[in-house]
Amino acid sequence: MTGLAATHKDDDEQRQHIRRVVWAGLVGSVAHLVLLFLTHELGFFRGDFDTLTGLVIFQASGYIVFFAYMRSGRNRTHADPSMTMPLLVWATTAILVSAYFVDQVRLCVMIMFFVFMVEGAFRLRLLDFVLLSVYCVLGYLSILFVVKEQFPENIDRTAELIQWFAFTLLTVGSVVMTAEISSIRHQLERRKKQNETAKARMEELAIKDELTQLFNRRHAMELLRHHKGLADRGAYGFAVCYVDLDHFKQINDNFGHHVGDLVLKRFAQAALATVSDVDHVARLGGEEFVVIYVKTDLDAALRASERLREAVSSIDFADVAPRLRVSASLGLTLYRPSEKPEALLSRADEALYASKQGGRNRVTVI
Ligand code: GH3
Ligand code: MG
Ligand code: MG
Repeated sequence: MTGLAATHKDDDEQRQHIRRVVWAGLVGSVAHLVLLFLTHELGFFRGDFDTLTGLVIFQASGYIVFFAYMRSGRNRTHADPSMTMPLLVWATTAILVSAYFVDQVRLCVMIMFFVFMVEGAFRLRLLDFVLLSVYCVLGYLSILFVVKEQFPENIDRTAELIQWFAFTLLTVGSVVMTAEISSIRHQLERRKKQNETAKARMEELAIKDELTQLFNRRHAMELLRHHKGLADRGAYGFAVCYVDLDHFKQINDNFGHHVGDLVLKRFAQAALATVSDVDHVARLGGEEFVVIYVKTDLDAALRASERLREAVSSIDFADVAPRLRVSASLGLTLYRPSEKPEALLSRADEALYASKQGGRNRVTVI
């Protein structure tokens, strides 16, 4: 991905994070307001209307702080820039504080926890989800103790404990569900990675020759078409050098097929070492190769072809067959405007034939 594309992606993600905070703040505050208003009207809220408004403002102000923090861009440096965990800790805290003020139907307030946790189930790490659940369950229990101490007449211990127990069961259930979701998420991520690796491997196999790891014939033709397109627009010229190893059949016959294979591999290394980064080397098949010299004139291409010829004759086989000497014949030609890649290659082949006729181990230019 280019730097510019990465920046756009970052900006998109940042906008998404901010949108989520705005929605969490709006939904959280409105749900809170409605629920607390109902408990107030029905006589379950321990406090006056100002307390109620104060609670909603207290909760909303937390979201405003998150919003301002994200707008400043500081969340970008976080391991999780969406700040899901801090946001959910805040939402849970707000629920717990409200639950302190509501008697008898406290569970109804606490159930809001699950509305937020649906989000957490898909976004949090399992450990964070468990920690948040423990915080909520223990927070709920602590509130019961505090209310029991401060307002013993307002609390029916058994009923509250049964409700707390039901809440805890529900929370455990959601942790189990989240564990399942988390394992599916990991599986999907693993598959995605495997698919990406397989795709990259297939793309490489499609263009490479297995033995030498050079480009294959199909890709060589593709490259020729590509450079032809650019050359026809006047971008640059390029040259093609057809290379054929000399008496390769004898190498196989005298030293064995595996040594023949090794010669092909070492030729590939030597050829790659003599060309520049913009040039290409491909195996057309058997012991025949093509080098495409890009952005070059005939003189420079000829010098490069001579270097390649010399490099081939100095490949060292002392480790496998001390008597073995390898040479190559080369046929070089320059691309002529508008001609077909096949015509270009066949002219290079003609030049190569001349090199063979002329005694091998030489470069001929047509
Ligand atoms: P010349 O100098 O005229 O080019 O003679 P040559 O022996 O090199 O040419 P010829 O076309 O007669 O022989 C090519 C040989 O290359 C025949 C074939 O068995 C061998 N060959 C083709 N592919 C491979 C390969 O992948 N590995 C090995 N070891 N040999 C191969
Ligand atoms: Mg041949
Ligand atoms: Mg040959």
